[in-house]
Amino acid sequence: MPAFLPPVFVSHGSPMLVLDAESPGHAFLAGLGRRLERPAAILAVSAHWTTRRPMVSGAVRPDTIHDFYGFPEPLYRLTYPAPGAPALAERVMALLDAAGMAGETDAAQGLDHGAWVPLRLMYPQADIPVAQLSVQPHSDAAAHLALGRALAPLAHEGVLVLGSGGAVHNLHDFRRGDRSGPAPWAAGFAGWLDGVLAAGDAAALAAWSDAPDARTAHPTDEHFLPLPVAFGAAGPDARGEPLHAGFEHGNLGMHAWAFRPADGSVAGST
Ligand code: ZN
Repeated sequence: MPAFLPPVFVSHGSPMLVLDAESPGHAFLAGLGRRLERPAAILAVSAHWTTRRPMVSGAVRPDTIHDFYGFPEPLYRLTYPAPGAPALAERVMALLDAAGMAGETDAAQGLDHGAWVPLRLMYPQADIPVAQLSVQPHSDAAAHLALGRALAPLAHEGVLVLGSGGAVHNLHDFRRGDRSGPAPWAAGFAGWLDGVLAAGDAAALAAWSDAPDARTAHPTDEHFLPLPVAFGAAGPDARGEPLHAGFEHGNLGMHAWAFRPADGSVAGST
């Protein structure tokens, strides 16, 4: 088992990403599984499962949820038949409990496209057990940072904490196939975010909505929130290392980062 598996945040883009072999984001995710040490299990933190309290899926055989509308029919035929991870769900509940956070398990929740689109590209064999964790849009980034920190032991237990959302995600501005490059507000926010993560500036990350153009980059919170969870899951002195950068469909940020302790140590490893 790896001594420390860096938590990762990926931008999952449009659901069509999984079929769009021309997309740089597709190519990045298709190579990412081989770049990482193989996890024993995956905790996917999806922007598309929003709940009042943290929820974790305990499904033994999670369904593939096609939670999108108006896309080409072949997309609805794709499945991701990975086994569930009920033992990981129990471990997550125990860690939340130890941190004084009230979580709940859902024995029926399947994998939404925030989870299965990147996972189908990263691990096409679908042979690594997956549990999914929700985000709470009524809570702020600081609460999600704390949620991630409560889960920090998982990185030492062979679990890949995979946040899946969007670095820049304004669907009012979605321009299908537009490759003309990002607007200054989108490039500016992504650059701000990259700097904050590289510096490990947890306070700035928690106060992200004060950053320039933050509310243009994210009119709503849910695609941002998996990011502080993944950052927090690398421990209190986490730093972000860029894995991928770039925009698709105009200003849809496809950036991804891995998180590890600043000194590269694996303190707390067992
Ligand atoms: Zn999404």
